[in-house]
Amino acid sequence: MRPSGRLHLGNYFGALQNWVALQDEFECVYGVADVHALTTEVGEAARSIAPNTREMVLDWLAAGVDPDRSLLYVQSQAPEVLTLHTLLSMSTPLGWLMRVPTFKERVRQMNETEENVSYGLVGYPVLQTADIIFAKAEWVPVGVDQAPHVELSREIVRRFNNLYGDTFPEPQVRLTESPSITGTDGANKMSKSLDNHIELAMSEEETRERVRTMVTDPQRARRADPGRPWVCNVYAFHALFNPGRREEIYRLCTTAGIGCVDDKAILADGVNDYFRAFRERRREFETAPRLVDETLAAGADRARAIARETLREVYDRIGLAPIP
Ligand code: AMP
Repeated sequence: MRPSGRLHLGNYFGALQNWVALQDEFECVYGVADVHALTTEVGEAARSIAPNTREMVLDWLAAGVDPDRSLLYVQSQAPEVLTLHTLLSMSTPLGWLMRVPTFKERVRQMNETEENVSYGLVGYPVLQTADIIFAKAEWVPVGVDQAPHVELSREIVRRFNNLYGDTFPEPQVRLTESPSITGTDGANKMSKSLDNHIELAMSEEETRERVRTMVTDPQRARRADPGRPWVCNVYAFHALFNPGRREEIYRLCTTAGIGCVDDKAILADGVNDYFRAFRERRREFETAPRLVDETLAAGADRARAIARETLREVYDRIGLAPIP
């Protein structure tokens, strides 16, 4: 994940919840893609990357990502991974990278020409490949939108293996359900940049405030009007936070037994109940001043040791002078 600071409900149900569950089945590697963040956060904006890393990792830990079972590392703290990226970039055709649909989209979003964007933005998938293969990962748990990137990683690996001999397994997509969570505006994907998000670490009052702004059935003008839960974003959220009360809420809404204000109060309580234990843990972790630093320092040591072994093998395959 790119270090985006405190995570929101979309990040949780789209990714983090699954990260926690996968630990029971696999040895997992979770990375903070802070070098990737430099493709957009340049100059003064880059100063936000380190504090955002800390906030995000606090959310990971509070959600149950367990550093005793999984490897947590920050990209920039594992320079061996960046070296692997450089070596992979030598055997990756530029045309493959320029054809990636998300590259073209990013260039458009930035209002730039392909000639003007940074070299690092073009190479984004190569760095992502280094992140995946330094530990010889077999599975990459992503949403379906990320599948083309993993496909490109497979091609980068295949080419390397063809040139220098079998070194890396071809990583495979392990599709997550990644439900797309809609924002409080009821129209767009939940996203920090649209300010339509609810952060996991918000206080109960902030959560209630955010839920109060949620868009409901636009045709329900008065409290006495019956609502249409099937078009209501608040109702959709009850599936996550009040699954046992959906029928009751449906009935009360369609008979005007409750109004939207009441409905939102029920949802806010549901969100607050759901994240109460998470928030308590997070507060404890926030006040343990060295926890994140120590977790990431230990993770960096482990990631570097693994990547160093991989690099030794890669140097040997290519025929570079051995690392002393
Ligand atoms: P981002 O910082 O946007 O790259 O998000 C980090 C992770 O959260 C990615 O795996 C995204 O797919 C996931 N994610 C972000 N926003 C949403 C959303 N609104 N619904 C579901 N998943 C999301």
